[in-house]
Amino acid sequence: MKMTTIFFHVMGASLVLLVLNRFQDFKLPLEYIILLSLTAVLPDLIDKALTGTRFPFHSLLVSGLFLLFLNLVAWYYINSNPDIKSRYPNILSYLLFASIAFLTHPILDLEGQVPLFYPLDTRGYQLNFDIVIVQSIPPQISNFSLGFLIEKFDYDLTYDQEGALISTIDVLLAFLIGLPFVVKGLQKSYKVLRSLDND
Ligand SMILES: [Zn+2]
Repeated sequence: MKMTTIFFHVMGASLVLLVLNRFQDFKLPLEYIILLSLTAVLPDLIDKALTGTRFPFHSLLVSGLFLLFLNLVAWYYINSNPDIKSRYPNILSYLLFASIAFLTHPILDLEGQVPLFYPLDTRGYQLNFDIVIVQSIPPQISNFSLGFLIEKFDYDLTYDQEGALISTIDVLLAFLIGLPFVVKGLQKSYKVLRSLDND
């Protein structure tokens, strides 16, 4: 089974949340967005523990209903407890964003088989996207294919124990995501040092 790696899931979810963040009045800080995006890893952890394969939480129906229930319970609980509501005014936004991050997981997994609509539709969905680039000057695209595959989901197909969950590209992406924070930190310490100089 082809597997999408951990950082790719977190990256994908972060991008979705960043876009959504633009449309809401209360803006979540970037650090929070990345933290909330970590929930995008959960479907793998839960399903691996429960069944060893990509169900039931890789299903948008199962995950969607579960998260809807969770959000409604939280919404009811917070609204009937004014104390908590005034102490954590944005907690429902956090939960909603974490839920959306969770739901990006099955979509990003589509490079392998995903039972997207289990249990109503027990088949597996897969998106095949291939682009072959010939390394010449200028580079040429020799092959391009895009296809959607719907076939019997293999419920015996367990997670490949040897599958790389973290790849070189992940390390590179993590570095790129972390870079702005490092630069910000360096700028801050530089300012502190300069202000010490001036004293
Ligand atoms: Zn997965």
